[in-house]
Amino acid sequence: MHEAIFKRDCYRCVICGLGRADGVEIHADHIVPKDRGGRATLENGQTLCSKHNFLKKNYSQTESGKRFFIRLYRRALAIGDQHMIAFCRQILATYKQFGINSHIEWRE
Ligand SMILES: [Zn+2]
Repeated sequence: MHEAIFKRDCYRCVICGLGRADGVEIHADHIVPKDRGGRATLENGQTLCSKHNFLKKNYSQTESGKRFFIRLYRRALAIGDQHMIAFCRQILATYKQFGINSHIEWRE
């Protein structure tokens, strides 16, 4: 399964695009972790470099944070709170900039 995931992702980290050709170690990651019911399928797999694999596995607190700000953003949108909308946008843009928890989708 690992090899199939690497092959589909062209042996490159899906976040930063670095791979073995750049001297970077790659890992097959479960998008939804096994302990939360994620399956060992191609669809639930993604290629990550060591750095992004580490960030994902060791900073799961940031996931709760991102989900919280997405909820807050939607609520602010619903009531038209421009100040809170701008605040959430900036925080979520920072998540995006650093490639943190990119498996949690956020769209403006
Ligand atoms: Zn990476």
